[in-house]
Amino acid sequence: MAELLIEAEGLTVGYGGVSAVRDVDLRLHAGEVLTLLGANGAGKTTTLLGLVGILPHTAGLVRCLGIESRPGRSAALARAGVALIPDDRGIFPELTVDEHFRLASRRSSRQRRDLVLEYFPALRDLLGRRAALLSGGEQQMLGIAKSLMLSPRVLIIDEMSLGLAPIIVQQILPKIRDLAKEEGMGVLLVEQHAQLALAASDRAMVLGRGEVVLEDDAASLLADQSRLEAAYFGGEEQR
Ligand code: ATP
Repeated sequence: MAELLIEAEGLTVGYGGVSAVRDVDLRLHAGEVLTLLGANGAGKTTTLLGLVGILPHTAGLVRCLGIESRPGRSAALARAGVALIPDDRGIFPELTVDEHFRLASRRSSRQRRDLVLEYFPALRDLLGRRAALLSGGEQQMLGIAKSLMLSPRVLIIDEMSLGLAPIIVQQILPKIRDLAKEEGMGVLLVEQHAQLALAASDRAMVLGRGEVVLEDDAASLLADQSRLEAAYFGGEEQR
């Protein structure tokens, strides 16, 4: 069995005493791509923030790479190898692509940079360009490539597709999946393009109103999309 990288049991997270996510059990193993799906406001981002301890959990247990996630532990989690790419992509508009790589590469080698550029060759021609002048898709690639420079063991990406054409997501997701398999990295995605995400995932969980309403292999969900639709739209009725 592959190594367990994230383990959450009964995760409950909220804002100002109101729980936005309740009783979520989630496991992510090495080399696995897991996608969180759900309608707007279902609690996907809140779940991610609870998993990495940016938001405190009010009930349950959550460990990333053996470290209990809670506020104040972000630096320790990052050092241990947890990389979170927020929906604003976490890049610096005034820095060039190359400067992003150099910032990240203080802790990694030239070989690593070459490998990352092999996965995202489009960035090779853009090394001298400021991030502010990149297209949305190029910025997303840079956000991911920058994180990959540090050889993370867990990569968490919130809404990669925000503002991007599906074709861009279609190009990027398979690369991330390949790298997960190649390096044993665990990947947790929040994604709006459900079909594209499922095609590049091993498993998926659907959240509805802050609770897990469906969980299965990505291939099974792709094969019978009526279950997915029922989970998306049934979340309202189940309560
Ligand atoms: P989307 O796909 O629209 O980004 P999501 O599934 O990521 O949605 P969350 O952003 O996790 O959903 O929001 C879950 C619930 O928590 C929503 O009802 C939302 O209104 C609420 N919420 C999110 N952020 C805050 C906040 N800072 N303060 C109070 N409530 C919040």
